[in-house]
Amino acid sequence: MDLSTACPWGRTNLTITADGSVLPCLYSRDLCLGNIFEQSLIVLYHSSVLEGVRNGSLLAEPCRSCLYREFCGGCRARTYYLTEDWFAADPWCPLVRGLTEEQVRVFPSNLPKEKVGGY
Ligand code: SF4
Repeated sequence: MDLSTACPWGRTNLTITADGSVLPCLYSRDLCLGNIFEQSLIVLYHSSVLEGVRNGSLLAEPCRSCLYREFCGGCRARTYYLTEDWFAADPWCPLVRGLTEEQVRVFPSNLPKEKVGGY
């Protein structure tokens, strides 16, 4: 499995702040997994929240069953700030916005801008 294209949130990235708080990423300051001075990093890495995002079980559809989940997973921080739900489908995803996989394959040409986040 190549994780290089997936959102690194809790996969290949954790953020540790000066007070020892462990976050899934720099932009997820509202989701503290624990404190490095109280728990081991490996325990926090295998927390139910991070495992549930990595294996998709906590994610809402269509992300949970998405063909691209292991290589994408959506941006959890952006999703939270747009929906107040860490595990919702990423609102900026073209699939979530209603495009078909066939349309996404030709990305970014000929796609309606409102469906691809305005780009
Ligand atoms: S639905 Fe979109 S955001 Fe969610 S995993 Fe699939 S491609 Fe990524």
